[in-house]
Amino acid sequence: MIRSLCVYCGSSLGGQAAYQVAANALGEALARSGIRLVFGGGQVGLMGVLADACLKAGGAVTGVIPQFLDRKEIIHPRVTDMRIVTTMHERKMMMAEEADGFIALPGGLGTMEELFEMWTWSQLGRHEKPLGLLNVNGYWKQLLAFLDHMQAEGFVEARHRAMLACEDSAEAVIEALNAHEYPGAIASLEGRG
Ligand code: AMP
Repeated sequence: MIRSLCVYCGSSLGGQAAYQVAANALGEALARSGIRLVFGGGQVGLMGVLADACLKAGGAVTGVIPQFLDRKEIIHPRVTDMRIVTTMHERKMMMAEEADGFIALPGGLGTMEELFEMWTWSQLGRHEKPLGLLNVNGYWKQLLAFLDHMQAEGFVEARHRAMLACEDSAEAVIEALNAHEYPGAIASLEGRG
């Protein structure tokens, strides 16, 4: 049973109102489900929208932010459980440890980097937590096609490609993460390669 979820998302708002609507809906859905939100701690972009929505709906929120990002991302003033760290690596490690699973909303390079790191740690057997994309207005469509190409070309095992859930609503992605079964680490680590 998932009790906390880490959400990676843009420090920008993106070019469509739909992205903010989705961040808002995910924040509310987490609060409704009694799932604690773990996020990057900023007040800007989709991050801020997400945290505001979760707090407003009575949800529990944990922010993790390096002090040096305060000027760029602005430490969220209403999140009481705010962990101030020093480096990006500490931030990512703490977010990973605090959450039972990971969701990416639309975002930029930081969002992708964070999600992919968790995905690679999973295929290396460092954790068994589920991952998913919230595919707002098909935002991740081209990425999904490229991931299929990576699998077809023999660089990603089918079971690891398949472990990334992709849904177009907050409820559906939370449900998919709850239903997740860890597929095991890459074959060479399990003595099958
Ligand atoms: P972006 O998707 O680029 O708007 O970034 C989303 C979040 O990811 C922001 O809070 C960034 O500070 C964070 N971020 C950017 N690069 C990294 C990185 N290498 N590791 C961890 N977080 C990052």
